[in-house]
Amino acid sequence: MELMEWRHLAVQSVILLLAAIVCSAFLSGRLQTGNTVLADTGKQKQESKILQEEKESVADGQKMGQFAAEKSEIQEKRSKKKIIVIDAGHGGMDEGTSSSDRKCLEKEYTLRTSLRLRSLLRQNGVRAYCTRTSDKLVSKKSRLVFAKRVKADLLVSVHCNASVAGDHDSKGIEVLYSSRKSKPFTLANMHLAKILFENLGKEVPLKKRGIIQRNHLYLLHHAKMPAAIVEIGYITNRDDMRYIMDGKGQQKIAQGICNGILKALEELK
Ligand SMILES: [Zn+2]
Repeated sequence: MELMEWRHLAVQSVILLLAAIVCSAFLSGRLQTGNTVLADTGKQKQESKILQEEKESVADGQKMGQFAAEKSEIQEKRSKKKIIVIDAGHGGMDEGTSSSDRKCLEKEYTLRTSLRLRSLLRQNGVRAYCTRTSDKLVSKKSRLVFAKRVKADLLVSVHCNASVAGDHDSKGIEVLYSSRKSKPFTLANMHLAKILFENLGKEVPLKKRGIIQRNHLYLLHHAKMPAAIVEIGYITNRDDMRYIMDGKGQQKIAQGICNGILKALEELK
């Protein structure tokens, strides 16, 4: 090979080498760019994931906020719950009236019915309390003091009737009220008595005697809130007495009074 040929070969080799370097550099650049693109795609994915999580978190936050608002609304509603005081007539040494054989004592069945009524009212979201929950003597004044202390919206007293004439024929339900004005004025005592009487009458098969104005009864005269006395039947009448002594009868009586109270509470709104 001549010198010229050697030179030519060397130049070609250098050119090839340079071309290889350039190609290598180019490919490397491309790869890096590719890597960057891949990295960018990865970053975007990651970012969109974070955004999604943030969105979900905000949504959760909003949900939590919503729940918190709902919770406070429930609490507010709870705090605005109406308060009912159920007065179970008599108790302890004050037995009230009784059947001639003394098997049926008024104090026992006013308490049984009142406890059933309290339970029904509570199931309906009403804050209901009884003036007594056991067989104990509670003065009339203490009953009213209790109703005032718990800020009762309504006072409903449960009693049994008895024939003063000593006969066994008088029977049925009555609701007693006073003409005295009580706050709030939106619910007059007479109107409360009417609502209680109608609702009790719908629920029980006992005779519907009516509502009676009795201004001088201690409880009705001194109560500051709307009040009524529900006479759930005559203990001196055999049919009424059986109904009052029967658990199912007590439950129906309690349900009727409960329906009346719930209706009356609508008038207080
Ligand atoms: Zn009584």
